[in-house]
Amino acid sequence: MASKNTPPVCNYEGSDYQTSFWDQGGREYEDRTEAIALKRLLPKSGRLMLELGAGAGRNTPRYAGFERVVLLDYSRTQLQQAQARLGKSDRYVFVAADVYRLPFVDGLFDGATMIRTLHHMADAPRALAQIRNVLQPGSVFILEFASKLNLKSILRYWLGRQKWSPFSQEPVEFAELNFDFHPKAVREWLQEIGFRIEKTLTVSHFRLDLLKRLVPIDILVALDSLAQWTGSLWQLTPSVFVRARVARNAIPHHIPGEVIQWFKCPECGRTPLESKRDHLYCSSCDSQWAIRDGIYDFREPLNN
Ligand SMILES: [Zn+2]
Repeated sequence: MASKNTPPVCNYEGSDYQTSFWDQGGREYEDRTEAIALKRLLPKSGRLMLELGAGAGRNTPRYAGFERVVLLDYSRTQLQQAQARLGKSDRYVFVAADVYRLPFVDGLFDGATMIRTLHHMADAPRALAQIRNVLQPGSVFILEFASKLNLKSILRYWLGRQKWSPFSQEPVEFAELNFDFHPKAVREWLQEIGFRIEKTLTVSHFRLDLLKRLVPIDILVALDSLAQWTGSLWQLTPSVFVRARVARNAIPHHIPGEVIQWFKCPECGRTPLESKRDHLYCSSCDSQWAIRDGIYDFREPLNN
């Protein structure tokens, strides 16, 4: 991968993340507060949504307003779990790819989400620029990121129990390929590449084990739901959601009905690719991209 000069990616291949973190990890509070934030930010309807870092498809059913959804993840095994959860249908298209080398034609999607994923990006501005490229004029992009400027890190910093400052704008890598970002830095990156920020919600105000043990979850969720609106004033939670929009400075493009017309070769940029029995073929650079069990795999060409 070094030859392609893209940043390292965090790979959940073979991970039981969905089970250990979400299903058995006492994360009902986080899941429900995220659902509320998404509902507030999602457009009522849309045609083609790109879900970046879709994982096992936990959030995918929440995009019911969109006619079709492309689930993108670097890990095939996560996408297989998503297939098992959602079923195989025309509505969902499963793509294994690197966010720094998106295999889609420019201006394809009219909506995108990236939840709990920027967290793993060593070069966040570069990833965001890739996403911007594949969005149509007027599209909505919903981004969740982990904020370094949260109350817990501020307290720890003031008490001398944490070296890095939560107030400085550069990202902090608190574990390998796990980054927290300053809300102002994220806003500036989005604006620099042509997004306008429409709404900011703060989420998970009460992400403390002690609270989660003492207070009934329905109450915590209701309180968080109210507090989310303060996101437009200040952001001191570990999780922040923003809704950003691409300027509607041109007429939105037609979205081809055929999935194969959505793709470009991530190696050389050629489009369209040719459909072969079990792969897509690029006639410019000779790359073959596998299609296995309903998953398009654009990570490494078959004939590499
Ligand atoms: Zn090619």
